[in-house]
Amino acid sequence: MTHGLINVSYIAATILFILALGGLSRHETARRGNLYGMLGMAIALLATILGSVKGNHALLAGALAVGALAGLQLALKVKMTQMPELVAILHSLVGLAAVLVGFANFMDPSADAGFTQTEKVIHEVEVYVGILIGAVTFSGSVIAFGKLSARISGKPLRLPGKHGLNLAMLVVTLWLGKVFLQQAAQGAGIIPLLLMTAVALVFGVHMVMSIGGADMPVVVSMLNSYSGWAAAATGFMLSNDLLIVVGALVGSSGAILSYIMCRAMNRKFLAVIAGGFGTGSGKTAVTAGEAGEVVSIDAAETAALLKSAREVMIVPGYGMAVAQAQHAVYELTRSLREKGVKVRFGIHPVAGRMPGHMNVLLAEARVPYDIVFEMDEVNEDFPNVDVSIVIGANDIVNPSAQEVPDSPIAGMPVLEVWKGKTTIVLKRSMATGYAGVENPLFHKDNTRMLFGDARESLEAVLKGI
Ligand code: NDP
Repeated sequence: MTHGLINVSYIAATILFILALGGLSRHETARRGNLYGMLGMAIALLATILGSVKGNHALLAGALAVGALAGLQLALKVKMTQMPELVAILHSLVGLAAVLVGFANFMDPSADAGFTQTEKVIHEVEVYVGILIGAVTFSGSVIAFGKLSARISGKPLRLPGKHGLNLAMLVVTLWLGKVFLQQAAQGAGIIPLLLMTAVALVFGVHMVMSIGGADMPVVVSMLNSYSGWAAAATGFMLSNDLLIVVGALVGSSGAILSYIMCRAMNRKFLAVIAGGFGTGSGKTAVTAGEAGEVVSIDAAETAALLKSAREVMIVPGYGMAVAQAQHAVYELTRSLREKGVKVRFGIHPVAGRMPGHMNVLLAEARVPYDIVFEMDEVNEDFPNVDVSIVIGANDIVNPSAQEVPDSPIAGMPVLEVWKGKTTIVLKRSMATGYAGVENPLFHKDNTRMLFGDARESLEAVLKGI
């Protein structure tokens, strides 16, 4: 493959990636966006394999086969509820790749052959920064994977003097960078590079461990952004323009997503990094003495309430994903709409366990897009809603975010379901949600609890309708 052809392929892939991002921004075009992305990646891989790889083709084919098989196996096996964990662990692979490429590039004598003195220094800085971002992304993503899959507690780790520790690691990293550049000029430098990698790995672990449950959405999108920058840094090391562009696209879109998530949770980015928001115990909530009684309702009563309603608002949360209740939700929506009931969905930006989680599930169940609204679009309308059905959601409908100033989630915008006439909450027990915060909604006079698995409950309600 000639150099010109490789460049043309890279430009085509870049355009396809940009079209993919554009497509993914709306439900209607998301499928097409995905196709553009796949096509772009296929072209990029082909151009790289056929164009840039000199020799070692058998080794490459073997590695590709192993990678493709592992990826296929994971994609076939993964449940929708495990998707966020899968995304987190895939980010860690991007970080690991950046670290390995960095070391390989540093040790390869031909990597900077023919460089001027200045170019050599620039290349060494690229290697150092690439390994640094890669190592933080790698260890941070592994911990995020552990937290999202509940292998590690959601509780924030609070080491004494943790800000001092972070600062010390930053200073050591900068100092090691200086030592590395000095030694690299004399053909050495592997020791400071290894030491920095160790510090960066510890930093990644500490950063994500000290983040409280409720801040995880921001961390997930932040690691997404880091993985992009790690790829871009690798692109600089390898002088691969496509990798730089794609890395920058992922890095900046992840950064924008982090900003959107921070705004959705009313949190400052630096405060998130500093950690400690939400306790993440996930234990059964202890009913506070002053709280009102919990009133339960059965499926037949729920069906009767829904049939007589004019306006129904459905608020899905993580439990809908666990119960795989989206198809039952669709059936309920369809039969209520046939009866002339106005049904809308209110989607909180951090509902579920990854950005857009609920939208993906509802789209899979073919719920019409035009009745699915974002929180800000419907939050004012709750006083006119006859029945709100909260399906496996908890933190995103917790009034203590507004009512209890010292609540761990104080200030986080929530869907104000309690302002409607009746709220029916579908969940299995009185357990708390991801942030581990008790929910006074369950004790309000106009709240009824429909206990049980969300899908089974909905199927029973459907029978009643
Ligand atoms: P929550 O985690 O607050 O609550 C989910 C509720 O679903 C639980 O209280 C649980 O109660 C119930 N549930 C679980 N399984 C079932 C089932 N089979 N049937 C019925 N109910 C079930 O979820 P929300 O969506 O309300 O809030 C999202 C939380 O996750 C926020 O704290 C957010 O910060 C965090 N988060 C979000 C991310 C994102 O990007 N969206 C990423 C990481 C974290 P019970 O056990 O009693 O059934």
